[in-house]
Amino acid sequence: STRLHSVTKSFGDLHALQNINLEVKEGEFVAIVGPSGCGKSTLLRLLAGFDRPTHGEITIGETMAANASEALPPEKRSIGMVFQSFALWPHMRVQEQIMFPLQHRSSKKMSKNDKQKRVEEVLSLTGMTAFADRMPHQLSGGQKQRVALARAIVASPSLLLMDEPLSSLDAELRSAMRQEIQRIHKHSGATIVYVTHDQEEALAMADRIVVMQNGQIEQAGTPRGIYYYPATAFAATFVSKAN
Ligand code: ATP
Ligand code: MG
Repeated sequence: STRLHSVTKSFGDLHALQNINLEVKEGEFVAIVGPSGCGKSTLLRLLAGFDRPTHGEITIGETMAANASEALPPEKRSIGMVFQSFALWPHMRVQEQIMFPLQHRSSKKMSKNDKQKRVEEVLSLTGMTAFADRMPHQLSGGQKQRVALARAIVASPSLLLMDEPLSSLDAELRSAMRQEIQRIHKHSGATIVYVTHDQEEALAMADRIVVMQNGQIEQAGTPRGIYYYPATAFAATFVSKAN
């Protein structure tokens, strides 16, 4: 499992995360919800290895992934990540973006032909085959988001971190991609930590929902548990009684 042990992350006086304890089990789909600024992206960045905790420790399986003084770099963790801003490389064509993780991670044993096949597979999975030769500036927001998703899953990571991956898609595409992510989850057995503003999305997709507020975990539980038995008024407004 992936675990945060009493993790605090401070930026000067601001405590973006305060004493977070969380265990995500192998193969589990965990949704993180909470208002803007509550620390969701910070938590994902720590799991990915882009930043180190100020206090506490992160373990991935038996490996000590990070504490205040050292951290395993992102490329040494078997992760795929979809950032809130998509973060496509402006100078690379769609298929090069998607090929990139296969050339720079633990996929060195794959033949060139197998890599090409795998890229075509995820292009088709995300509905982007026709856009393989485009540059990012020639894509819509939703198309960029799909490229980011394709790039995140191409190397079949064991931990998939997604920060609002469907936020700029229209309703139809969002529902299709939701199903796609759930399918990927089932097939690959990957552990997923999924940040969303959309409580309906969290309720529909996740095995467990973590409600955050002010850098702390307000409540964690199954969608049913949180929906029917919110522990606090805040959890209630955020998951069940809102809208
Ligand atoms: P949103 O839903 O708007 O994306 P979030 O829950 O992802 O919000 P974070 O991005 O994790 O929020 O930010 C948590 C807090 O930490 C915010 O107050 C933010 O301004 C602050 N913060 C995040 N990164 C930094 C940084 N590098 N330097 C200083 N403050 C930061
Ligand atoms: Mg965020």
